[in-house]
Amino acid sequence: MLAVVVYCYSTLQVPLVGYIAGKQSLGAYRSALMLVAGLDLLYSSINSLLLPRLVAWRRKGPTFLWHRQKELLFLFLFSGGAISAGVISLAPVVYRRFLGVAFTEAILPFQILVVGRLAVFVGQIFAWSLSALHLDRQFFLASLAGAVFSVGANLLFVPCYGIVAAAVVSVLSEIVVHGLCFISVKRYISRAIAIQPPTLYNMICRICDSSDLVPAIDLGLQPWCNHFLRRQEIGSEPFYPLRVVYCRNCGAAQLDFTVKKEVMFGDHTYLSGVTKSLGNTSAGSLARLTDGSFERLSRRAF
Ligand SMILES: [Zn+2]
Repeated sequence: MLAVVVYCYSTLQVPLVGYIAGKQSLGAYRSALMLVAGLDLLYSSINSLLLPRLVAWRRKGPTFLWHRQKELLFLFLFSGGAISAGVISLAPVVYRRFLGVAFTEAILPFQILVVGRLAVFVGQIFAWSLSALHLDRQFFLASLAGAVFSVGANLLFVPCYGIVAAAVVSVLSEIVVHGLCFISVKRYISRAIAIQPPTLYNMICRICDSSDLVPAIDLGLQPWCNHFLRRQEIGSEPFYPLRVVYCRNCGAAQLDFTVKKEVMFGDHTYLSGVTKSLGNTSAGSLARLTDGSFERLSRRAF
């Protein structure tokens, strides 16, 4: 299925251009595709080295992975940008000297396709990351969006604007696919960073500011229980540490990790006031507190 989708956004364009724009334009466009394939080979050879490194970086944690991805992004943009700029500036000379005037209409599409290859070169840092993070479904969905865009835009624009439009659509399709891959990786990394267990002994007691805290009950990572999952969220919901610690200074038991308020109350569907069992429990607690023990405690305190 993935192969069909990838074919639709990357290769189906060629017969479409032939069908819509005619054989002569197809010939010119294919010359641009064949020339840009050389650049493709260079970039994809470098990209093929990415996966093992991304897997190793993922094992060192989401922050480390994201940091390395950003470093690669700037390195690829700088080096690929310089190479692509050189190829673009040489294109008119190469076309006129080696292919002749019959192919000069392909110079601009070729130059546009070079920009697209740069987008793929940079974007694959994140596309390969989806494999390293076992997010193959997100890659499939990004490819599907690219395929739908590619076929639709080719049918719309190639009849009017010919192979220049075909080249622009090719570049935009790659940007759609790799842009969605980037968004998926960024969302995953943000969630993963948010659920990293905190360092226990960096925390201070919420009551007395003591740092003399010891773990009491550790329930591991748990999802936020007040959120009703939507169908598309199942399997990708974030987990948070649920751990009770005990303060040896004041005796207070407390959680050592606080879920961000944006998560707790951003889409808050649990209302304590309408939960009958919680109301009954609170009423029982109140009755016990007001049976005289509170007054006894107060008298002792003052
Ligand atoms: Zn304390």
